[in-house]
Amino acid sequence: MTTYLLKIGELNLKKENRRSFEQVLKRNLEGMLRAAAVRVACTHGRFYVRCERQKEALIEQSLSQLFGITGWAKARTAAKTPAAVCAACVKEAQEAFAQGKRSFKISARRTDKSFPLNSYGICVEAGNAIKTALPDLLVDVHKPDLLISVEIREQAFIYGNERAGLRGLPVGTAGRGLLLLSGGIDSPVAGYCMASRGMRLEAVYFHAYPYTSEEARQKVIKLASILGRYTRGIELWTVGFTAVQNRIKECSPEPWTTVLLRMAMMDCASRLARQSAAHCLITGESLSQVASQTIENITCTGSLSSLPVFRPLIGMDKESIIRQAERIGTYETSILPYEDCCVLFSPAHPILRAKLTEAHELYSQCALDSLLEKALEESAKTLCVDLSA
Ligand code: ATP
Ligand code: MG
Repeated sequence: MTTYLLKIGELNLKKENRRSFEQVLKRNLEGMLRAAAVRVACTHGRFYVRCERQKEALIEQSLSQLFGITGWAKARTAAKTPAAVCAACVKEAQEAFAQGKRSFKISARRTDKSFPLNSYGICVEAGNAIKTALPDLLVDVHKPDLLISVEIREQAFIYGNERAGLRGLPVGTAGRGLLLLSGGIDSPVAGYCMASRGMRLEAVYFHAYPYTSEEARQKVIKLASILGRYTRGIELWTVGFTAVQNRIKECSPEPWTTVLLRMAMMDCASRLARQSAAHCLITGESLSQVASQTIENITCTGSLSSLPVFRPLIGMDKESIIRQAERIGTYETSILPYEDCCVLFSPAHPILRAKLTEAHELYSQCALDSLLEKALEESAKTLCVDLSA
């Protein structure tokens, strides 16, 4: 059997709510690992996953996609005696030495105070045992190649390869958000940011067939599936927006079409969010990144939502967003060359500083109410999960 030890970070701050946060984390992890039938236990602020060796790859992939843990490691377990702990440390060091590690440090923690050595004593004894067994593996307390951690709890746990977790909070502890998901780079990253704060996501995509192709829709489904790795799937609404888009084009001065289309999207998303009991909308807007995202234009589009609109990327530059998209795995899909409806619809000289009153007047002139209701009635929901992951 293999044991993984998980560290929860920010959850430790949640004093009286901590237990409920832990329960959600446990449920999320068990849900991710449902197919693997493994055991997840939680005692004294540590989570443990125990599984058969052949399931390690699956477990490690799941742990690398789990919000709410600061770190995790595959741990050796040993009896709670100094000799057993030292022997396990030596084994850990031998494996690491064989993989090219040349210096080490030990860090010890003793929750069970009945263990005969204190933390310092564990470091000294285990360090000496390693130096005797592997004279060429040197001690380096500042920048060691290998940090061996020892934790004396219900058992002794020894691990040398701690991996960073995604941090954040367990999905399902911070309400539900409706993400406006286009096929671009930004909105998937925006969804990821909110999910990392514990928000459960649902997504909506406005599709303008035949201006936008079936490939464009498939690309959005793929993006939702990739995001769904972190949230155990995402439900994606596809709303046909061709009639709305055409109406805006017919009824409005050309420079205004993009802002009005964005307003219609907010209006529609906010109606949908109410139907599906979401608490807020989420967009990938970033201040002044494009013409529709000046402060004046964002004010106009945001004004059509009756729910709070979260724009987690608002102060980020494009390069940081791209780096984040690469890290979370959406970038390669986002840059596939299928245009979204907004690109095809863009006026040559879009209005940059839309006035709110004028925007509302023009928006009312388009009389979109029944078209939006019809689009929502005809919308379809797909559960997006990544089967390749
Ligand atoms: P993205 O990379 O997310 O597409 P962008 O820089 O291309 O963003 P815009 O195209 O102006 O910016 O879109 C701003 C935001 O509006 C997007 O981040 C997304 O949240 C939402 N949005 C735009 N187009 C659509 C669409 N077709 N369906 C759903 N949401 C959309
Ligand atoms: Mg876009």
